[in-house]
Amino acid sequence: MVRMRILIANDDGYLAPGLAALVQAMQGLGHIDVIAPEQNSSGTSNALSLHRPLSLYQGINGFRYVNGTPSDCVHVALTGLLPEPPDLVLSGINNGANMGDDTLYSGTVAAAMEGFLFGIPAIAFSQVEKGWVNVDAAAATARSIVDRVIAGGLLGRPFLLNVNIPNRADAADLPRSVTRLGRRHASEPVVRQQSPRGETLYWIGPAGDAREAGHGTDFHATASGRVSITPLQVDLTDHAALGQWASLMPERP
Ligand code: MN
Repeated sequence: MVRMRILIANDDGYLAPGLAALVQAMQGLGHIDVIAPEQNSSGTSNALSLHRPLSLYQGINGFRYVNGTPSDCVHVALTGLLPEPPDLVLSGINNGANMGDDTLYSGTVAAAMEGFLFGIPAIAFSQVEKGWVNVDAAAATARSIVDRVIAGGLLGRPFLLNVNIPNRADAADLPRSVTRLGRRHASEPVVRQQSPRGETLYWIGPAGDAREAGHGTDFHATASGRVSITPLQVDLTDHAALGQWASLMPERP
């Protein structure tokens, strides 16, 4: 029997407790490669470093890391670093939720998405609250979901799942809901400060609260004490609007 290969990345950096917990939880499934960013790269979305070379290092914790973005890590791994493509790409466990519109900014989701774009099944895991409370329970939940995917024979065809796990000691026993993304309100206002040298500085404000958080959304599921599992796609086309725009802008004006 051929051993399964798993590539694990994250966006919080190679020293993040969520990464260590996720790697630990996947032990026994097969060969695991870890390639994570050197720095916390949360909120970097799908950015690739195209204007400078990347270096690969071996961390004292045994994980390899790249001085780049989450997408860099998976991209480099899949385009030359790994001797053969993995069967599964995992990302996380992120320090904080990635729900609704967060998914567009998330480096955690982006790392998984990079695998998906290369045709590999991929799952992004996040804990709903920041601070790593009960991260081992979240990792056990991740393992249980991966086990379910394997048992279901779902590997071999690409999919992209976004999983958000409540910070609870019994996370692995919580009910699970397959959800759609909710929506957030617009972000809080930018925070202005003065630097010691009199310059005005701007901090991006915190994300807005959930706006569309009704039944069936990721926000609703996690707020009800459930693990949220959202299947994602990458096509941003507004298919419903194609006809309207085509009639407004005919090919031959
Ligand atoms: Mn993060």
